Amino acid sequence: MNPREHGHRHHHREAMLSVEEALERILAQFHVLDAERVPLLEALGQVLAEDAIAAHDIPPLDNSAMDGYAIQAASVSAASEDAPVTLEVIGSIAAGDLPTHTVTPGSAARIMTGAPIPPGADSVVPFEETDEIERRESGGSMDEIGVKAAVREGSDIRPAGQDVRGGTAVLAKGATLRPSEIGVLASLGFDSVSAVRRPHVAILSTGDELLEAGDDYAAGMIYDSNSYSIAASVLRYGGVPKMLGIARDNLDSMNAKLREGLRADLLITSAGVSKGDYDMVKDVLAQRGEIDFWSVRMRPAKPLAFGTLRADDGRSVPHLGLPGNPVSAMVAFEQFGRAAIRKMMGKGGLLKPRISAVLEEPIYNTDGRRVYARAVVTKKNGAYHARLTGNQSSNLLTSMSSANGLAVCPEDLPMKDTGEIVEVQMLDWSEDVF
Ligand code: AMP
Ligand code: MG
Repeated sequence: MNPREHGHRHHHREAMLSVEEALERILAQFHVLDAERVPLLEALGQVLAEDAIAAHDIPPLDNSAMDGYAIQAASVSAASEDAPVTLEVIGSIAAGDLPTHTVTPGSAARIMTGAPIPPGADSVVPFEETDEIERRESGGSMDEIGVKAAVREGSDIRPAGQDVRGGTAVLAKGATLRPSEIGVLASLGFDSVSAVRRPHVAILSTGDELLEAGDDYAAGMIYDSNSYSIAASVLRYGGVPKMLGIARDNLDSMNAKLREGLRADLLITSAGVSKGDYDMVKDVLAQRGEIDFWSVRMRPAKPLAFGTLRADDGRSVPHLGLPGNPVSAMVAFEQFGRAAIRKMMGKGGLLKPRISAVLEEPIYNTDGRRVYARAVVTKKNGAYHARLTGNQSSNLLTSMSSANGLAVCPEDLPMKDTGEIVEVQMLDWSEDVF
């Protein structure tokens, strides 16, 4: 490294930012991505880029809610268990048939659930209120049916258009596609949909000490877990991760890997952002664009880098530099990376879903930072309770695995005590994904 490059770093002023300030600065560099046509199932979790207009009613025709007989209600107004009214059976209608025979005051059509109501009929009487079973068992004629109860006009008929009116927007632009929306779109015959495309996120780990998963173990080295935990998080929140692998702490290695990363919508690196680091990252990034090194008032994950890099095609690509420690990288990603991905996907909910819980042990805050303590939330007598996972060192990745939430002690409090209500960011809340 030449001295001029090394000196570069000293021009960066280190600002101490709140989590909110850091988030605001980061989000200002992201925009909703363009739309793409996606096969329906693959659009799960994406956002609809245009209104979905129903081409026809659902259900398409008035149809039966029960297995039974389509009749005119007036013809059985006097019917009772003791004095059934006998009607002539003019046919049988299954779901998918288009009935043509007309039901008259003295007649009925046998009908199955979902089958269209025949002309003339105004109600359906279920099998249970007829003598069909007795007739069948006694070998009686099935050309007639005895109805044993009066029915209201319209009963057990599901009207056309009850679910969806043809010509209307069944789902509006901006809707997030959950399994139910995917089903609604399929019910209208869509097999693809116009959705905001998924962001491509390039992920690069840096460090001479790193081994790639699958490599032979070598003493003194550690496996790169950040690539995987961050790529998995990107996938979980709807992005398309591209793991670039490991850049070594030298200029050529960094430059080669970075060039690949610049094809993405976001580049995420880990490590090399803290003070006193052997920080090739800073120098290389500063050459290729603008990069700020921040101290964020949070624990873990105080050091953070954010900037924009100039791609060869002139595009500017946001770059988020996470701290190297595995827990710090994940916690910072949850605050900043997740929000950026959701914004690019056209989604709201940029803050993690939070719940209130009763704290079962203290969280200490020794230096005025917002503490995100790895916590286990359980429900007891209808209330959420949070205990911590133990040692909170930011290198202990298994503590993230034990946790289902991050319990927050605000930066302006020296501690959150046992019994106090604490806010917990949930790590495995289902609505966090869609
Ligand atoms: P650094 O920011 O380079 O000082 O790294 C901080 C700590 O995180 C060091 O103990 C690194 O070995 C560790 N670390 C950095 N990158 C990774 C990675 N990709 N996977 C696991 N640990 C890492
Ligand atoms: Mg390092």
